[in-house]
Amino acid sequence: TDFGFQDVPIEEKAGRVADVFHSVARRYDVMNDLMSMGIHRLWKRVTLERSGVRRGNSVLDIAGGTGDLTKKFASRVGPTGRVVLADINASMLNVGRDKLIDEGIGHQVEYVQANAEALPFPDNTFDCITIAFGLRNVTDKDKALRSMTRVLKPGGRLLVLEFSKPTNALFEKVYDQYSFQVLPRIGKLVANDADSYRYLAESIRMHPDQETLKAMMEAAGLDRVEYTNMTAGVVALHRGVKL
Ligand code: SAM
Repeated sequence: TDFGFQDVPIEEKAGRVADVFHSVARRYDVMNDLMSMGIHRLWKRVTLERSGVRRGNSVLDIAGGTGDLTKKFASRVGPTGRVVLADINASMLNVGRDKLIDEGIGHQVEYVQANAEALPFPDNTFDCITIAFGLRNVTDKDKALRSMTRVLKPGGRLLVLEFSKPTNALFEKVYDQYSFQVLPRIGKLVANDADSYRYLAESIRMHPDQETLKAMMEAAGLDRVEYTNMTAGVVALHRGVKL
C-alpha cells in the first residue's frame, strides 16, 4: 500500500492521524516499550521531575493517550488537586481510562475528548500542561500552542516532550535507519500494521527541531523557554512559562 503520509494534504492529516491511533490503541503500551526499548519510561520520569507539580495543583495531560503521565500526576497532586486526561481520539482515551481504573486511580482523573487546537477550558485554568509525543500529530501546531498557553494560569508551565533532532550526525544516520527500516518491521510483525509505524517514522522526521520549536513556543506567548536534550537529541523536553 502507498500511504504517502508525506504528501498528504493538510486537510486530510487529521483523518489519517485518527486512523493510526484507532488502529494502534489496544497495543499502544506494549509497542511503546518494544520500540523505545523501554526508554520512554525514563523520558516521562524526567518530564514529571521538571514539571514542578505539587500537591493541590491542577494539571492537564493533553494528547495523553493511554495515560502514563496522567498516572504520575494523579499521585503527585493528591486529593486536593485536579488531573485531566485529554485526547482527541476516543479509542486511546478508552484504553487510558480502563488502565487507570484497573490500577485504582481512575476515579481521581477527569477524561475529556478534546483537540489540542481548541481546548474546551476557560482561560487561566491549569498550573501545568504536558503534551508528550502528541504535538507532532497536531495539524496546526501554532494554534495548539496558543490554545495551551491560553488555558495555563499565569506562572503555569507548558512541557512539550517530543522527538527531535539528534545532536550527532553519525547517530542521526543510525537512528534514521532504525526508524525507517526497523520500526515498520516491528509494527508489521507485532501488530500487523506496518503503515501506522511508517507514519510514526515520517512524522518524527518532519517534526520541528529544538530551536524551531523553542521559537514557536515563544511566538505563542510563553516566556523563559528552554529545552533539555535526552538520548542524544532523539527526544527533547521543552519547557515554557506563562507570565
Ligand atoms: N502522551 C501519550 C504518551 O506519551 O504515551 C500518548 C502519545 S501518542 C504517540 C499521541 C496521541 O496524540 C494519540 O493518543 C493521539 O490521539 C493524540 N492526538 C493527535 N492529535 C491530537 C490533537 N489534535 N489533539 C489532542 N490529541 C491529539
